[in-house]
Amino acid sequence: MGTQPDGTDYVWPSVKRYHPMRGAVVGTLGAYFNDAGVNLMHDEWFQPMAEETRGFLRLAREEAPDFIVSLHSHESSPSVEPTACIPRTVKETIRAFADRLYARYRVAGLPAREAGPAVQEDGAAFPPPSFNLASALHHTYGGTAFIHESTAGARYKSAPEVTHETNPGSTNGTVRRAPVIRDRATCTLGT
Ligand SMILES: [Zn+2]
Repeated sequence: MGTQPDGTDYVWPSVKRYHPMRGAVVGTLGAYFNDAGVNLMHDEWFQPMAEETRGFLRLAREEAPDFIVSLHSHESSPSVEPTACIPRTVKETIRAFADRLYARYRVAGLPAREAGPAVQEDGAAFPPPSFNLASALHHTYGGTAFIHESTAGARYKSAPEVTHETNPGSTNGTVRRAPVIRDRATCTLGT
């Protein structure tokens, strides 16, 4: 997430306090951001600042997939995150997908949460959830977009290392999760 000018690490959620992350608040720019300090999860949706965001939205419009899953990393059991500011019916699709994905994780012997994200009204409590990239993707082309968080890409003492690699030759004790997500997505789409 980068560092402050005094070398202190930025941490979640205060790392989101400055956006774009530029100027005197930056020690080293972390991987949250593109080179211009824009966090692609929190671009300016009515006039995106980042060329990467514009390209992503353009690709979504052209391809119009049923599902877009954005793979993130966090220090906790894997989770399908709720997407805010979208129709309730799409929230229900995400919840149903997550329930089935977690069931599939259990079958595979992987850590799994009890249930997918609760379907609820946005902003009933403070702070309200953000209209983020997943929200913007839905409103760009109408599909179901959500974030999947796991420990992939980061190392924590509290959780096993996870990789999204697809090669079946992994022998170093890592957990391969992406194939399970794809398997579950394929079943959900009935193909
Ligand atoms: Zn994330």
